[in-house]
Amino acid sequence: KQRDPDQPEFHQAVEEVLRSLWPFLEANPKYLQGGIIERIVEPERAVLFRVPWVDDQGRVCVNRGFRVQMSSAIGPYKGGLRFHPSVNLGVLKFLAFEQVFKNSLTSLPMGGGKGGSDFDPKGKSDAEVMRFCQSFMSELYRHIGADLDVPAGDIGVGAREIGFLFGQYKRLSNEFTSVFTGKGLAYGGSLIRPEATGYGCVYFAQEMLKGIGRDIDGQRVAISGSGNVAQFAAQKVMELGGKVISLSDSEGTLFIEDGLSGEQWEALMELKNVRRGRLSELQGPGLRFLPGQRPWALPCDMALPCATQNELDAADARALLANGCVCVAEGANMPSTLEAVDIFLEAGILFAPGKASNAGGVATSGLEMSQNAMRLHWTAGEVDQRLHGIMQNIHHACVHYGEEKGRVNYVKGANIAGFVKVADAMLAQGVV
Ligand code: NDP
Repeated sequence: KQRDPDQPEFHQAVEEVLRSLWPFLEANPKYLQGGIIERIVEPERAVLFRVPWVDDQGRVCVNRGFRVQMSSAIGPYKGGLRFHPSVNLGVLKFLAFEQVFKNSLTSLPMGGGKGGSDFDPKGKSDAEVMRFCQSFMSELYRHIGADLDVPAGDIGVGAREIGFLFGQYKRLSNEFTSVFTGKGLAYGGSLIRPEATGYGCVYFAQEMLKGIGRDIDGQRVAISGSGNVAQFAAQKVMELGGKVISLSDSEGTLFIEDGLSGEQWEALMELKNVRRGRLSELQGPGLRFLPGQRPWALPCDMALPCATQNELDAADARALLANGCVCVAEGANMPSTLEAVDIFLEAGILFAPGKASNAGGVATSGLEMSQNAMRLHWTAGEVDQRLHGIMQNIHHACVHYGEEKGRVNYVKGANIAGFVKVADAMLAQGVV
């Protein structure tokens, strides 16, 4: 904290991991040797660069670009790119740190990294987004590669941005390689990758619910966000018979009294992904937009926070419990504050940290890399089946390491299970 006082999100992520890991480290002192902890909190490399681009009025704009390469202990760096005005080094270090454990949990050979820019794609024309992406990649391309560092999307980086970024990488490197995941189907992408994080989160929640004899069917589910993760979490909840009673964005919450219908979901997809409109524009019977509000005061059985970090605080956690919520599975990265997590754990409800419940996205990115390496294309059913199996395995790993006093502490389970593999690899590779 003294070394980087301006990185609160990074400190929060490290504190959450070390707090739950500590008793395990004391019981297994080999992990306290070799400087494992001191090394694991320091990125192997971080690059910061200028991204100049020209807007539609001919003005020169300058943004900051970053790539944090956190750990390559178990595979090439892997993690998304985020384009959002709130992006800075501390936010990306927190995301890269979380990514190391998450990628390890998938059981696929991927290290951890994260990158992005403080560029805001909202309100920009396609041509402006393309010029920005090309400029961003003109520097980033020398730091990434199919066996070195493989970026993907995140907040503000969807199919359009990945297309522009990949196109520029290919042009500069003069190679068509699997340097990006989340690619379009026409140029090496995997079926089910767009759906994977949202679907995976719901598959994970399904496994948790089995432990208390419940299923998604008939549950009232509050979802936050209305982007990639929220959209497909909503679709899977509906498919499994649950009721999606909310979506949200940075302007407020859409309350859906009788549960989102298939038609309304299609309208949402068109609004967000084609017209790039705001959630408040989604109108119809049973829909009510609540400006400036979060979804957590709505009575629900389950909550899936799928927007951004620290969007669910202690007061929200208490409101959820008071209204009877029994299961919280994080679709976003670190959406719950440390205090909110403590409240859930003390209450003993089912709580899954993002590094476990949102790992389906990066797991399917790993499957995209495998398909590219084999020059093969799996069917949607095949990828979905593997994704489902991976989420069940992550759940098993959390139960294995997280069982205490007759119930499962998923925070502890995910952190220990993710840590062990990375730490063993670091011990084997010496002090590097
Ligand atoms: P998108 O850009 O597609 O959607 C982000 C959503 O979150 C939008 O509805 C956005 O609303 C909302 N949001 C963003 N910032 C804020 C904020 N400060 N306050 C309130 N709402 C906000 O991103 P994704 O769906 O891809 O990502 C969502 C979360 O899931 C992130 O935490 C990401 O790191 C995580 N994640 C994503 C994965 C993926 O595969 N996409 C994989 C694993 C994790 P608005 O339009 O108003 O900004």
